[in-house]
Amino acid sequence: MIHDPAIETTGLTKHYGDVEALVALDLEVRAGEVFGFLGPNGAGKTTTIRTILDEIFPTAGSARILGMDTHAQSVAIRRRIGYVPGDLSMYPNLTGRDTLTYFANLRGGVDWDYVGDLADRLAADLDKKVGDLSSGNRQKVGLIQAFMSKPDLLVMDEPSSGLDPLVQREFQAMMREVAAEGRSVFLSSHTLSEVQRVADRVGIIRTGHLIAVEAVAELRARSKRRIEFQFGSPVEASLFEGIDGVTDVQALRRRVMLSYEGHIGALLHAVAGHNDIVDVTTHEADLEEIFLTYYRDEEETA
Ligand code: ATP
Repeated sequence: MIHDPAIETTGLTKHYGDVEALVALDLEVRAGEVFGFLGPNGAGKTTTIRTILDEIFPTAGSARILGMDTHAQSVAIRRRIGYVPGDLSMYPNLTGRDTLTYFANLRGGVDWDYVGDLADRLAADLDKKVGDLSSGNRQKVGLIQAFMSKPDLLVMDEPSSGLDPLVQREFQAMMREVAAEGRSVFLSSHTLSEVQRVADRVGIIRTGHLIAVEAVAELRARSKRRIEFQFGSPVEASLFEGIDGVTDVQALRRRVMLSYEGHIGALLHAVAGHNDIVDVTTHEADLEEIFLTYYRDEEETA
């Protein structure tokens, strides 16, 4: 049984002189989830990661990883986690394979068939010197290094930077597989679409303050979406008026566009009687909108 929660911070605070990089962070990452940690540049994501990994010392507060104190038991923790730092540094003269061998020897118990699978999936070239690889291809070696020991927790700081879209998709599938096995992923990112696709829950951080923690599914259900109906014959906008959650109705002869919020049931019920519907198009709710709303609210209160 993997320890639940995987990460737990209590009043975690970090000041750099006058800069309050992290303020009283209380955060919980559950076993078996992908937790997206979202925030703009300078929000405090890297500071959070470096503090919980005992690379820097907190000004106040504490954290536990897999039930262990991050400072007192940092060595034991390192054996159970995979880490992709934001500023990946490797020995330029070693090949990818040599790099992975080096890490595998430090840790032991690495399944090389699994390493081969990971390399195939990410289209990583392990025979070139790391120093000769592009930054995206070097990043793949870093990802394999973190995944290869099948850690109970993966901590990754902006791991998709430099990966092309196909590889990003594969990487997202790999994260979902980790969660499906009951292991956990802490994913720091400013790529909203990625978090939306891969995370179970998301924490939003701004100027060192955690301003929201939400299930991604919740955020979606709460956000406004656009939907478009195509009918076989002209319809009136009035067909959609007064339906719960529906706003901004535009009817252009046989085409009707509208926004809705909340559950789609009432809307579908209202159009169900129309056997003249030819097509329906919905547009994915966008985390970006929700994200901006949080930021605006926060700014207004400040
Ligand atoms: P990014 O997305 O750009 O990586 P981030 O969310 O990871 O940003 P942090 O790197 O944690 O943000 O930085 C948080 C704040 O702390 C910023 O204001 C930054 O300037 C400051 N900061 C970080 N490291 C130091 C340091 N060593 N000395 C002084 N200030 C620092």
